[in-house]
Amino acid sequence: MPDSKSARAAKSVPSRGQQRADGSTFRSKDEVEVGRRMEALKASKIMMVDDEPTTIEVLATFLEGEGYENIVTSTDSREAVDLLRKHLPDCVLLDLMMPNVDGLQILRAIRSDATLQHTPVIILTSSTDAETKLKALQHEATDFLGKPVDPSELALRLRNILAAKAYQDHLINYDGLTGLPNRRLFLDRVDRILRRASVESIPCSVLHLGLDRFKQINDALGHRAGDILLKAVARRLERSIRPSDLLAIPGLNEAGSPLCRLGGDEFLVILCGSPSADSTRTIARRIFSNLSQPFRISDEELIVTASIGISLFPEDAEDIEALLGHAATALSHAKQAGGNQIAFYSRALNTESSKRLLMENQLRKAIGREELLLYYQPKFDTYSGDLRGAEALMRWNHPEQGLVPPVDFIPLAEETGLIESLGEWALATACHQNVAWQNAGFEPISISVNVSSKQMRRGNFVQTVRFALSDSGMAADHLILEVTESMLIEDQAKTLDMLNELKAMGVKISVDDFGTGYSSLSYLKSLPLDELKVDRSFVSGVSEGSDDSAIVNAIIAMSQSLGLIVVAEGVETAAQLRFLQNRGCDQYQGFLRGRPVPPSEWGDILKRSTGGD
Ligand code: C2E
Ligand code: CA
Ligand code: CA
Repeated sequence: MPDSKSARAAKSVPSRGQQRADGSTFRSKDEVEVGRRMEALKASKIMMVDDEPTTIEVLATFLEGEGYENIVTSTDSREAVDLLRKHLPDCVLLDLMMPNVDGLQILRAIRSDATLQHTPVIILTSSTDAETKLKALQHEATDFLGKPVDPSELALRLRNILAAKAYQDHLINYDGLTGLPNRRLFLDRVDRILRRASVESIPCSVLHLGLDRFKQINDALGHRAGDILLKAVARRLERSIRPSDLLAIPGLNEAGSPLCRLGGDEFLVILCGSPSADSTRTIARRIFSNLSQPFRISDEELIVTASIGISLFPEDAEDIEALLGHAATALSHAKQAGGNQIAFYSRALNTESSKRLLMENQLRKAIGREELLLYYQPKFDTYSGDLRGAEALMRWNHPEQGLVPPVDFIPLAEETGLIESLGEWALATACHQNVAWQNAGFEPISISVNVSSKQMRRGNFVQTVRFALSDSGMAADHLILEVTESMLIEDQAKTLDMLNELKAMGVKISVDDFGTGYSSLSYLKSLPLDELKVDRSFVSGVSEGSDDSAIVNAIIAMSQSLGLIVVAEGVETAAQLRFLQNRGCDQYQGFLRGRPVPPSEWGDILKRSTGGD
């Protein structure tokens, strides 16, 4: 009777290894490693084909006792080949003498089947007949066991065969250098994934990553260093993909790595169940950000960039060849456009998102290409009219679009994480600029730098500030960091720690766009603040009796009660300035006295205001 007892797997019998782990004996690292490998072999799938139920019963029970968890049996040789194709066992124990279909026929079928071809087969035979053995050997039987089978001999032979197979499988399926799956294993996996995905309508995407200028690195540092780099890249790729990126689809995502080394400096990633171009892009960005940290290779710091081409299933293609081909095409577009960027192969994406992507790619390079600038807007004393400081405001001198205002790129920078490097650049540049003015003999002024909440929450912000100060040599009390109200409200404990640390360094903290958030007075009291900036929207509306006037009044009164400097933003008219003077506002900024201008125009402003040489 057909008798597939794969349900045996459910019975969990403790293996010898587990029983042995009584902690009483010391095991060396090598022994532990060997033990670990042997334990892993116990997960192998073993199939037994024998027409005698008792033989099956005895051997299966014994193997289960040895810890093998995955045993499939059959007493009907006619169904054996179908079962083999279904279960793809790691090793087959095959009886020779069976009615209907004999063992030799089955062996022949195995050796001529493309997928089963290399499966190890141990022949169980009571026959002492040399000719039968010879025939089995001709059909590439892997090993023999005489019947009745000696269980300890079976255990040893099985273990050795499985170990050899595991090693062989590894060689066939994994990249020797990085240990990642190779193209063969990956294609096999993607093929299975896509078949399932098309039935269940699961969206997938393929990322094809290539390092930029790997050949030059290899030539300059040597192949050994190149190899070390590739291994390190592989580890960072592994770190970039989180389990939460992959939808839990039983039998798919948990089975093996979503990565592959294609050869050379090229890698593939399959993301299954990550629903949209957006989430794929998020993961691609995470890969970029992980790769952007310098690599330390033979005592050299190496900065490596990469390009990624992405194709989406099913939008771009429904079969594996085309999908991989499209990802490769997208990669070559990314490389042609200068590298260090992400490109979608996509007719499906609308132009809006490809425009954004273009912008993102350009922004990523803007710092290196020196396209970013800081303009500075003067800040004055409301009563004396003296210059009190300058606020650094970022501009992007875009190669095609000319001067781009921050509203058009700061949100994108925040979303993509680029704000971290942009902000770091702005901080460093502003500090250096201020020191340059001081060195030119002008009266020292304070410099205000805008800080985005994303920037503050990412990376090590305090350290960035400390470095900007020490690198430029600017005194900490000449630096004012402008943070927004919303930032103060998020993650209050962490914010307080960070502000206290900055405060301890001597840096001043200003709350930007004040009045637009919802911070409570009692909360503000608990923070180490120095300045409040009244948002432009209130200032522009001030006139006697208006709501905005009442708000500005209240903010000024509140600042005074908290002992903070209050600065009005966006002062455009003399009437607005008079209003502020009457209410006791300390300082102001605005088009009335000074627009943001490039450093080249600051010589005049400083000369007029502080009488430097
Ligand atoms: P913000 O910090 O509130 O900067 C003041 C904005 O008001 C500036 O716009 C400035 O040009 C503009 N402004 C100043 N006086 C007047 C006036 O009298 N009338 C009018 N209508 N506008 C005035 P800008 O330079 O376009 O910057 C916009 C925003 O972009 C800034 O708002 C700030 O939130 C952000 N930003 C600028 N540079 C940086 C930066 O380096 N880092 C970060 N994170 N954000 C920045
Ligand atoms: Ca500001
Ligand atoms: Ca503001």
